[in-house]
Amino acid sequence: MSGSPLISQQSLLREQISIFGRSLFDRGLTMGSSGNISVRLENGGWLMTPTNACLGRLDPARISLLDGEGRWIDGDKPTKEHFLHMAMYAEQPRSGAIVHLHSTHSVAVSCLPDVNPCDCIPPLTAYYVMRVGKLPLVPYHIPGDPALGDAVRGLAGQHSAVLLANHGPVVAGKNLEAAVYATEELEETAKLFLLLRGENPRALTPEQVAELEAKFPKG
Ligand code: ZN
Repeated sequence: MSGSPLISQQSLLREQISIFGRSLFDRGLTMGSSGNISVRLENGGWLMTPTNACLGRLDPARISLLDGEGRWIDGDKPTKEHFLHMAMYAEQPRSGAIVHLHSTHSVAVSCLPDVNPCDCIPPLTAYYVMRVGKLPLVPYHIPGDPALGDAVRGLAGQHSAVLLANHGPVVAGKNLEAAVYATEELEETAKLFLLLRGENPRALTPEQVAELEAKFPKG
C-alpha cells in the first residue's frame, strides 16, 4: 500500500496536525496535555491526537488512527475526549476537522454567570461572524461523562462551534486550517468581549450579521 494516495494524504495530515498543534501550544492557546485535534480521512476514518499528549510535542507517527466507526485501530490511544469529536462529526457531516482547546479567554467566558446560553459572545467583528457564528453554551458535565456527547450532539446540527461550560470550545471546520483559524478567531473575540465588558460595546446589527451570512456562508 505504500505510495498509495490514501497513505500519502494521511502522512500529510499527520504532519499538519503536529505543526498546528505546536503552533497553538507555542502561543499559549493550550497548556500541558490539554486540547485535542481530529481530522476526517477520505476513507471514512479519522486521525486524532492521543490521550495525555502535549499538542506542542506530537509525534506524527503516533497520532491515533480510528476506523469509520470511530474505533481505535492504530497509533497511541486517542484522547479521552474523542466522544466530543464524534458527536460533532455526527451532526456536521461536511466538517473535515475539529479542534478542542482549554484556551483561557474562551474558558473565562464559559464561566460567566450572565452570558446568553444560546449565543455566548455578541457579533463584535465581521470575521467572528464569518468563522464562528452563533456560539451556544453546553451545560457543565464531569470530564468523560457520555451525557456531554449527547448535549453536544443536540446543538451541533445548527452550530459549527459550541462552548462547554467551565471547560472550553469545540470547533469544526471544513478542513484543519479552517478549524484552527475559527478556534483562534473565537479565542481572540472572547478576549475582546472580556475587554469590553461594562463598556456597552457596539456589536454588529442583525442586518449586518445577515448580510455577512448571505455573502460568506460557512462550510
Ligand atoms: Zn477538554
